[in-house]
Amino acid sequence: MEQRILQVALDTPLHTVFDYAWQAQAEGELVPAIGQLVVVPFGRREAVGVVVGHVSQSALEQGKIKQVIAVRHQLPPLSAHWLALCGFAADYYQRPLGEVMLPGLPKNLRALSTVALDKALNALGRLSAPKKSKARSKARAHPEDEARQETAAADATPADPMQFAQAPALNAAQQEAADAIAAAHAFAPLLLYGVTGSGKTEVYLQAAAAILRRAAESGERAQILVLVPEINLTPQLEGNIRARFPHLNVVALHSGLAEGERARNWLAAHLGQAQIVLGTRLAILASLPALKLIVIDEEHDPSYKQQEGLRYSARDLAVWRAHQLGIPVVLGSATPSLETWQHAQAGRYRRLELRQRAAREAVLPTVKVIDLERDKPVDGLTATLIAAVRKRLEQGEQSLLFLNRRGYAPVLACDACGWISNCMRCDAFMVVHRPERRLRCHHCSLELHIPRACPTCGNVDLQPLGRGTQRVEEGLQAIFPEARVLRIDADSTRLKGSAQSAFDSVHRGEVDILIGTQMVAKGHDFKKLTLVGVLNPDTALFSHDYRASERLFAQLMQVAGRAGRAGLSADGSSGEVLIQTRYPHHPLYQAVIRHDYDGFAGELLEERRQAHFPPFMYQALLRAEARELDTAMAFLKDAATLLEAPAITINEPIPMTLMRVANVERAQLLIECASRPVLQAFLKQWLALLRQVKTRARWSLEVDPVDI
Ligand code: ADP
Ligand code: ZN
Ligand code: ZN
Repeated sequence: MEQRILQVALDTPLHTVFDYAWQAQAEGELVPAIGQLVVVPFGRREAVGVVVGHVSQSALEQGKIKQVIAVRHQLPPLSAHWLALCGFAADYYQRPLGEVMLPGLPKNLRALSTVALDKALNALGRLSAPKKSKARSKARAHPEDEARQETAAADATPADPMQFAQAPALNAAQQEAADAIAAAHAFAPLLLYGVTGSGKTEVYLQAAAAILRRAAESGERAQILVLVPEINLTPQLEGNIRARFPHLNVVALHSGLAEGERARNWLAAHLGQAQIVLGTRLAILASLPALKLIVIDEEHDPSYKQQEGLRYSARDLAVWRAHQLGIPVVLGSATPSLETWQHAQAGRYRRLELRQRAAREAVLPTVKVIDLERDKPVDGLTATLIAAVRKRLEQGEQSLLFLNRRGYAPVLACDACGWISNCMRCDAFMVVHRPERRLRCHHCSLELHIPRACPTCGNVDLQPLGRGTQRVEEGLQAIFPEARVLRIDADSTRLKGSAQSAFDSVHRGEVDILIGTQMVAKGHDFKKLTLVGVLNPDTALFSHDYRASERLFAQLMQVAGRAGRAGLSADGSSGEVLIQTRYPHHPLYQAVIRHDYDGFAGELLEERRQAHFPPFMYQALLRAEARELDTAMAFLKDAATLLEAPAITINEPIPMTLMRVANVERAQLLIECASRPVLQAFLKQWLALLRQVKTRARWSLEVDPVDI
């Protein structure tokens, strides 16, 4: 019977693939294809891996090579394109292939048991007949997707899948953008640069519709991938997509899904059944055999960067993927990342512009600064801001107050002896959470009861210093006892579904004043909201992080963009944005007042060019952590001397700004180079040497780091 040697990628930190022998179990069993999942013995356990190659001879000795245990023949192999994508990510981010491939697959598909996989395949109608009928009757007990599919199948005259719901007529700029996207027949990176409320969503939807229709007419399959920063915050988009394409299979892919649903949705994409996949960054690694368009909404959002394990940028992988497939990729934003803006300036990305708001009568809001030196705040709120909120209340409109700090107060202190609520495990304060009566460390999650008295001197009069969203909520409720105040932040939305229901109640007009962190600033189309107040943005002006200005500017433009989206106020005015600051003349705020992204981005880019920062420089960051700082620093010092290369700058190792987290001391070493390929070649060689270094420090390398 047939026998082969397979190369298999496994989820291990070892930078290699593994050889296994495969022998047909039955006459005619097919040789596992490249891209097929197999079960193999690995050490003392069994593991699921991906076949990535066939070889005629193994470098292993005859007796050493082990046998493949099982082949997942029921799962069609992953495509060459998907394998190439993982190969690129592994190579670029300097990770083992298996550590890219396997964690990218839903748990249920890479489980040793096939029960969940078979169940998911059954639900999608993809298993052989006898098994299928059994599982189908079982599936009926689960309402969910199967129910919908079965009713559709039972329908005698199925609706034309390309029958889409009525769409609003696009304005000229939107039409031009949608046409440009749909007309791209090869790789086309497109920056959809549209002010907040300019109707970017409508452009995505109509371009997608055109591409799907065209494919259907020529009998081709087509899939569209839409990425959003955080899916639970944008149920509106999912609703819009489902409503617009009522007969298409639309699936979501994000980490909030239950495992069963995630496996089904992933398979629907892999099998080509899902025409539209809406997902968060992890969806960029989905298998999409008929991918024809990728959309990245709010492309500037930091959530597109994975911050642990494989630290990839979903946006960058999307551009690579589109390039590989020869398809358009749309990066949408009112405040593009400087990387993307620079590509557009240099002509590598084509810029499509929407300069005006789309809804009838809607214009960009008026932005003003409130000088905190003149208008002294009480409980964090100035008289000017309070008066503005009152006016909106009287007009029956909504206000949004933005404060990017959750909790009640960032620190608890004792006036008598100077004690402050330091976290015992981190270089950070424990934050006061009043409703929960807890002190919480936001870095290591340590929780304590709020002490009744000072742990050092016994003073019972402990003071919360500064303010977070909980404290502002309390203050607002006292000033406006009759108003309906709602706080939305990571604390108020811990329970599954609670974020969505909170946003729903804002949309239904059941909230007068919304107070929240950056969670409320992203993408929402609140139609009754006409006032935005920003409470305390100044700290970011003086951050050591060179990206802080870019982030603050984007955040302010985004949150400002929530005001006045649906048209004019009752009194005929446009939306209003009030920023409380001690630095009213700061160029950053002045640029927000002018809605001047172009000008501000131009200045930032010039600064970056002169300072040799990204996007004019490529970076990698080696991080090390250990119980003692010395261990981490010693490792980095060794690392810095392992390999020299002329074009590479190896900086001094330094402790991280937040040095100790959860009793672990952390340090970092920054590598810089003006050429990406030169840096890549260096990293490859350097890592091979690093892996030989004996150390007790845990270390990891990040390519294109964002927090340094
Ligand atoms: P963006 O994502 O660019 O901030 P949205 O896509 O949320 O903006 O659109 C803002 C508002 O404008 C939405 O309420 C949307 O329904 C409306 N809108 C979009 N396009 C049009 C159009 N062509 N005519 C009328 N209203 C539109
Ligand atoms: Zn004290
Ligand atoms: Zn801590």
